[in-house]
Amino acid sequence: MSGSNAVQAGQIPGAATSKGKSQDAVMGTYGRQDVVFARGEGSWVYTTSGDKYLDFGSGVAVNALGHAHPRLIAALTAQAQSLWHTSNLYRVAGQETLAGRLTELTFADRVFFCNSGAEACEGAIKIARRYQFVAGHPERWRIITFRGAFHGRTLATLAAGGNEKYLEGFGHAADGFDLVAFGDLDAVAAAIGDETAAIMVEPIQGEGGARLAPPEFLAGLRELCDQHGLLLVLDEVQTGIGRTGKLFAYEWVGITPDVMAIAKGLGGGFPVGAVLATAEAAKGMTPGTHGSTFGGNPLAMSVANEVVAIVTEPGFLDEVNARALRLKQGLARIKDTHPDLVEDLRGAGLLTGLKLKPNVQPADVVKAASAENLLLVGAGDNTVRVLPPLNVTDADLADGVERLSRALTRVAKTIT
Ligand SMILES: *Cc1c(COP(=O)(O)O)cnc(C)c1O
Repeated sequence: MSGSNAVQAGQIPGAATSKGKSQDAVMGTYGRQDVVFARGEGSWVYTTSGDKYLDFGSGVAVNALGHAHPRLIAALTAQAQSLWHTSNLYRVAGQETLAGRLTELTFADRVFFCNSGAEACEGAIKIARRYQFVAGHPERWRIITFRGAFHGRTLATLAAGGNEKYLEGFGHAADGFDLVAFGDLDAVAAAIGDETAAIMVEPIQGEGGARLAPPEFLAGLRELCDQHGLLLVLDEVQTGIGRTGKLFAYEWVGITPDVMAIAKGLGGGFPVGAVLATAEAAKGMTPGTHGSTFGGNPLAMSVANEVVAIVTEPGFLDEVNARALRLKQGLARIKDTHPDLVEDLRGAGLLTGLKLKPNVQPADVVKAASAENLLLVGAGDNTVRVLPPLNVTDADLADGVERLSRALTRVAKTIT
């Protein structure tokens, strides 16, 4: 093992400590696979024991450009040698560059930088409430959200997602969210009241099972917002930065939001998030109304600027769409081969999923895929997600489909 990505001496996973195994010292909030990765390259990751896995989970749609992309390494190391952090008490050059670029590329006029998807969603919620407040409607503070949604693990974003399992044991859920059925425009219309400030929605529910919002549903939400003076907030934390084949998923629909949360793919693996807004929607966000110590720090900005530069290069997204089509064809073949296991193909672009038959568990497919050295990610609604890097090669894409097919054959043997 060599190179800077190697696990260093003194960081031996599972080593004994005076209090037990070092892996038990990590708080047990995750059901993790028993594998430790030491380095990655392109669409592949290599374990400390030398096995290699094809990464079609991309760190949950984060490693948009695969692992160890030379240009991202160059951007990060160059920045690391000059300046890491100054705080937001001062102007940050990389923020101005990236905000300028993101506003050129999108509906937005203003960008706030943070460190994660949940923070981006929290920021979006605050912007929406604050907008109504300065517009003379302090009573409008509630947000309409959708069943099956996932907006993060902070107390407010948990309430926004409404997943009972995630809320259990954490006291009363934060107030201010009205949950309705995903895709049900009439239910949304009925839920709008005097206190409604905004509607917040994922164009594709990622964690919820790669569930695509019909275009006419999103267009209908835009119309309802316009009719009622509400803000349309899109959570593109998972769908953004080219994941669906457009830079942002809303571009497929031909509408624009007022506010948008992004994160995951933005840093290509470096933690960074952002909230984008129109000047109108952001007009309440004056000095002191929001902030973050780390948000938009020079290291994060150096990588995010490079990610955006690469993803917006001419032809890049065309290639993503070509790969997405090949993946879809591959998944369709798998569905045909395993009609007793696969109920439906889900998603768009390279945010895809297989909805499984009720007698098959996503965890079983993830496990069988691991046995074929393929990484996948489970999701809600009995779905397993297939999320290759946006720049996956044709050979790796074909290889991944083969591995997935073999994994389902393994699962089939265990189903009676
Ligand atoms: C992952 C995700 C989040 C939360 O992001 P974190 O970085 O885990 O806080 C929010 N919204 C969507 C749509 C996501 O996929």
